[in-house]
Amino acid sequence: MNVINHWVDGKPWEGVSGESTPVYNPATGQQSGSAPAGGQAEVDAAVTAASAAFAEWRYSSLTRRQNVMFAFRQLVADNRYDLAKQLTAEHGKTVDDAVGEVQRGLEVIEFACNIAHLVKGDYSEQVSTGVDTFTIRQPLGVVAGITPFNFPTMVPMWMYPIAIACGNTFVLKPSEKDPSTSLMVAEMLAEAGLPDGVFNVVHGGKPAVDALLHHREVKAVSFVGSTPIARYIYETGTKNGKRVQALGGAKNHMIVLPDADMDLAADAAVSAGYGSAGERCMAISVVVTVGDAADKLLPKVEQRIAELKVGPGMAEGAQMGPLVTSDHRNRVASYVDAGEAAGATVRVDGRGFSVAGSENGFFFGPTLFDNVTDDMSIYTDEIFGPVLSVVRTEHYEEAIRLINDNPYGNGTAVFTNDGGAARKFQNEIEVGMVGINVPIPVPLAFYSFGGWKESLFGDHAIYGPEGVHFYTRPKVIISRWPDPIHRGVDLGFPQHG
Ligand code: NAD
Repeated sequence: MNVINHWVDGKPWEGVSGESTPVYNPATGQQSGSAPAGGQAEVDAAVTAASAAFAEWRYSSLTRRQNVMFAFRQLVADNRYDLAKQLTAEHGKTVDDAVGEVQRGLEVIEFACNIAHLVKGDYSEQVSTGVDTFTIRQPLGVVAGITPFNFPTMVPMWMYPIAIACGNTFVLKPSEKDPSTSLMVAEMLAEAGLPDGVFNVVHGGKPAVDALLHHREVKAVSFVGSTPIARYIYETGTKNGKRVQALGGAKNHMIVLPDADMDLAADAAVSAGYGSAGERCMAISVVVTVGDAADKLLPKVEQRIAELKVGPGMAEGAQMGPLVTSDHRNRVASYVDAGEAAGATVRVDGRGFSVAGSENGFFFGPTLFDNVTDDMSIYTDEIFGPVLSVVRTEHYEEAIRLINDNPYGNGTAVFTNDGGAARKFQNEIEVGMVGINVPIPVPLAFYSFGGWKESLFGDHAIYGPEGVHFYTRPKVIISRWPDPIHRGVDLGFPQHG
């Protein structure tokens, strides 16, 4: 049994609450470990350590911070398979997908290696006689990250490498469902030379989150998770005077126009709908077909689904693993029941799916619905499972309106060979990340990631240049050095002559 600890002031700590949360291996359905359920006392200890470390870390040189990031980058790269195997054991995704997750996190670390360039300010000489003006960006202090289960390694990496490189100190509250890799990276950061207290991990659920949201020393909170919790984090954090970025859930649509390359569109729909068993905030969950596109597309989608290999994430050749918990699998099944009862056509049914030799695993087979309408719960709600809904429309305008009326606005895509149609889409669509013949438009680390509407609360997207802005405050300095020519009393208003 894997016993997981908090990480406070540079070392593992079991905490004081005495409570714990079980951690499961979704492929076997067996408990594999337990994590302590932290609360006020654990958060107080972590924030105290982070606060003390900030006094020195904020004045560490940019070159020192870069050196730590370069060393950390190397350790993550060298250990990417160990990280991937551990996250597969707790999340369930295939190990190849997990390696990809680590890789995308690594790219943010690489971005943070360039911090000396990223925090440069502006300088204007002689804004008035003998007066210069310049800007600097300073760290905020102790900042917190609260992260979801679906990318247990990558999503925290969207936050702490940039926060720390900017000179802040960090308290991470990872998901209680797959908490282990946060401890592995804590050890790597220490080995990379990060001083004690700069990076801390507190496990737990709502009590730990609430303690962070109310702690006076926590200056900013980055959150990624579901929309109801994102809204709560944003409202509570800002009410307590904190800077907050809270990324929420999604319901991502992919439009397929009749002129699209149907093989490419079918590949994309299956990859983006069923990859990581649909447990991605950028997963496609609705395919909106226009005109006769559905009749050309759906047989190709069905054919690809039939060829998918579903199995334990560590199994050779597995393309899709189990869902994260049995509760979540039951929730996904109840949506499929509701969709069928509401009159949608079940073209592929993943209910009752089991994998030989892993009968107790939390598996759910790929599911495909046709003739879905916008009043059905399989359309309105984020299911977060391997369930793809097809909505048929007559006109492109109707397809665009569906997306723009949706309360979420994380990602979307259009599949077409018509440049004008693609341009109309990029101009008119009310979504933060847009793919043109690309189903999962996740920006690389030197851009920023963020949706619109109920997929993001706050003014800053995450990582990239916006990450640097989120984790720093700009200061403007207007300076004049005494010069004999300035002597003499002048009661007039400066005229910048
Ligand atoms: P979740 O909202 O249940 O949990 C996220 C975090 O909030 C966890 O650390 C959890 O411990 C904490 N939490 C849960 N309930 C809480 C409460 N009542 N009060 C305070 N804190 C609470 O999300 P999840 O199930 O772990 O992750 C899946 C969700 O995350 C999906 O909705 C998905 O779309 C979203 N997500 C969004 C993005 C994005 O970039 N927009 C990325 C990844 C995941």
